[in-house]
Amino acid sequence: MKVYAGVDIGGTNVKAGLVNVENGELLISHCVPTQSNLGPKSVLSRTTKLLERLIIDSGLNQKEIGGLGISAPGMIDLATNTTIFLTNLHGNWKQVHVGDWMKSTLGLEVSMLNDVRAITYAEWQFGAGKGVDSLVCFAIGTGVGGGLVVHNQLVLGFEGTAGEIGHQTVDPNGPLCGCGNHGCLEVYTSGPAIAAEAARGVLQGWDTKISDLIDHDLNKLTPKIVAQAAEMGDEFALEIWQRVGRYLGIGVGNILTSVGVKKVIIAGGVANAGDLILDPIRAEIKNRVFLMPVEKVEVVKGQLGSTAGIVGMAAWRAKQDVMEKASDPKV
Ligand SMILES: [Zn+2]
Repeated sequence: MKVYAGVDIGGTNVKAGLVNVENGELLISHCVPTQSNLGPKSVLSRTTKLLERLIIDSGLNQKEIGGLGISAPGMIDLATNTTIFLTNLHGNWKQVHVGDWMKSTLGLEVSMLNDVRAITYAEWQFGAGKGVDSLVCFAIGTGVGGGLVVHNQLVLGFEGTAGEIGHQTVDPNGPLCGCGNHGCLEVYTSGPAIAAEAARGVLQGWDTKISDLIDHDLNKLTPKIVAQAAEMGDEFALEIWQRVGRYLGIGVGNILTSVGVKKVIIAGGVANAGDLILDPIRAEIKNRVFLMPVEKVEVVKGQLGSTAGIVGMAAWRAKQDVMEKASDPKV
């Protein structure tokens, strides 16, 4: 068994785990609140402690850990493992040398990736995309991220930025997005966008089961509730999923036309809506894509859930080790 560590630094939590990179099995995982308001040093030192505790609790010796992969939500200099800009972390982590810090404190070799590229890599290696040579993954939660695998390679692009497919324009006159553009796919399809659309109906007194499900308390409104209402046959909730799926279908169609992937994986919390969101995507791409065999493209839900990023990063670091050894003339 080859064991590597994976860490997912998120806006809310830092998750860490030890992974058998031969089969993607998560052996053990722990989680602490990120508290990014305390600054990068505090987050990194707590992440080091988290990993140390993880190794002790696993009963493994530190020497048995092959290396460490770390994902973060934003732009990262992949050559130096330095963060360039993390949108959801306090202070945006400009020029934080995460790789150097971890190597000096834990003595492990480090690789980094954007968080959704890590999910994409995990789903490709061990989940819904196993055995497929070209795929796209959309991870839909608070935002909409993505990743691409083309011809058996995770596409990194210029400075690791390939895959920001939640920020493709789907409406030139659309509302402002957090990224600065107007009418991004994310504006219409993120978890908060789904909840906001549902809130509009509730506040306007529409006849919808959503009002009862949240006990008329808008704070309880989540995409999960909107899915529950739709499964009960609620017309308004069904309409919301149709609209979200239609926009996603436009975004997926753009990817199919430009890259020609075989499989589309919808991951992240919102994907739990299942066919409520997948069916309208399947329908929309057939309406819009004509220059590739769209009828053979599968649109499926991600399989690895919320720990996909940890698994993906551990496996990604293991792959870098294999590649570095292969290119080292001394070995
Ligand atoms: Zn955007």
